[in-house]
Amino acid sequence: MTKFIFITGGVVSSLGKGITAASLGTLLKRRGFRVSIIKMDPYLNVDAGTMNPFQHGEVFVTDDGSETDLDLGHYERFIDERLNCDNSVTAGKIYQEVVRKERAGRYNGGTVQVIPHVTNEIQENILRVAKDYDVVIAEIGGTVGDIEGLPFLEAIRQISGRVGRGNVLYCHVTLIPYISAAGELKTKPTQHSVNELRRIGIQPDIIVCRSQLPLLQELKDKIALFCSVANDSIFEAIDADTIYSVPLSLQKQGLDKLVIARLGLQYSEEIDLEDWFEFLEKRVHPERELEIALVGKYTGIKDAYMSVNEALLHAAIHNQVNAVIRPIETEEIEKLGADNVLKGVHGILVPGGFGSRGMEGKIASAGYARENNIPYFGLCLGLHAAIIDFSRNVAQLALANSSEMDPGTPNPVVHIMEEQKTVDKLGGTMRLGAYPCRLEDGSRSRRAYGQSDISERHRHRYEFNNSYRERLDVAGMVVTGLYLEKNLAEIMEIPSHPWFVGVQFHPEFLSRPMRPHPLFRDFIAAAKEYASR
Ligand code: GLN
Repeated sequence: MTKFIFITGGVVSSLGKGITAASLGTLLKRRGFRVSIIKMDPYLNVDAGTMNPFQHGEVFVTDDGSETDLDLGHYERFIDERLNCDNSVTAGKIYQEVVRKERAGRYNGGTVQVIPHVTNEIQENILRVAKDYDVVIAEIGGTVGDIEGLPFLEAIRQISGRVGRGNVLYCHVTLIPYISAAGELKTKPTQHSVNELRRIGIQPDIIVCRSQLPLLQELKDKIALFCSVANDSIFEAIDADTIYSVPLSLQKQGLDKLVIARLGLQYSEEIDLEDWFEFLEKRVHPERELEIALVGKYTGIKDAYMSVNEALLHAAIHNQVNAVIRPIETEEIEKLGADNVLKGVHGILVPGGFGSRGMEGKIASAGYARENNIPYFGLCLGLHAAIIDFSRNVAQLALANSSEMDPGTPNPVVHIMEEQKTVDKLGGTMRLGAYPCRLEDGSRSRRAYGQSDISERHRHRYEFNNSYRERLDVAGMVVTGLYLEKNLAEIMEIPSHPWFVGVQFHPEFLSRPMRPHPLFRDFIAAAKEYASR
């Protein structure tokens, strides 16, 4: 029988529900259980693909090409499982399905309502994931009390009647604010949010309290008493300097054991978290510091490049360095010049992006890295920027542009993909998800991966124009990774440069703390070498 753990949030958003879900998933997986995690977002967008990074942070892409909430990235990195469209559910997706069924006459003339039709659809989505797993964790986005969240809370209330209350745990993540004038931690907002949950019929089993300071036992007892939760079921989540310490802290407090006991799960294995301890240990003993420029358009938004930041961190820890990321607004480069803005960095990374704004700054960054032998890593749009710089300044191609920058350019070096020419420009029309790629023997990428055939995740509409392949090749920028079936350039390198690699895909999505992505790993290794010269 599959067990279900539902994670809700109270008081305010951004409490780290996603990290709590991912941490609990990690601990259960390390206990030998098969674990999956679902994110349920109450917003009406069908998926995260059409959302601006300013509002919603990064769009995380899975193998099957689903464009999802960035929490799925945390889940994949923590539990080290590949997720898919079933792990990402939004109210928009649910309503779309309900309306589709209504149009198809599937409700037999009944009045279609939030309860039971929408709530049933939500439950079906949860149960669909359950069949292959011992434990399914479902995180409900937003905060208890949000209007949009109600059908989701009602659905997770009802599900315990379907699968048995003993197979379900409700975990509420809440805030215990510190009021400095009183010098006290306050439990009242938590009491209110638990009351709100109870009003809808959900009695939490576990409360995870986010706070700035440790919670004394008295305070935990008070929360337990007012919220009708057992004394051993109140956990603290103190602000941590890295998200990767959260599983260890929750484990130390006994969260995994409590969950296992409450759900009646059987386990024999002792938990092995040695590699996590080592990872965190290495993090605090770097050999040196490096500065890596991250040239983008959303650098003011912490979450916009979440997976890129995480992948850089994994690679840095592996290389025993502290990689300080210097966020650079690409328009700064356009105003002040690349040499003024990028001076002193040990590596330059240009991540993915959309639209023509700021493109010249990215092209100039690639050029600066190329001319000064600074390690360069271009991801998707970052590859396009590198191709344009190289075409203009080395291969001497007069019309080196991207049709994304200037749709009128005749024969641009980066052009819209054939399949994309006919589709509507807005929403869900890109080349998405995992595609195979063959690596060129002897290339930097081939050495990094240690194998010839790889698979990486995509999210783009434009690509390298193959009619320029010869010209660039002769000038010294070569295609080293190919999607054979369609002869598409997936990786390009400048072999005469110490480390210059651009990729059409998004390697950042596959990096794991214990297994840094090979290209990120080697990029940081090259930056370390550059810095020590
Ligand atoms: N905007 C570019 C394209 O659509 C790059 C996309 C990206 O960087 N993910 O091809």
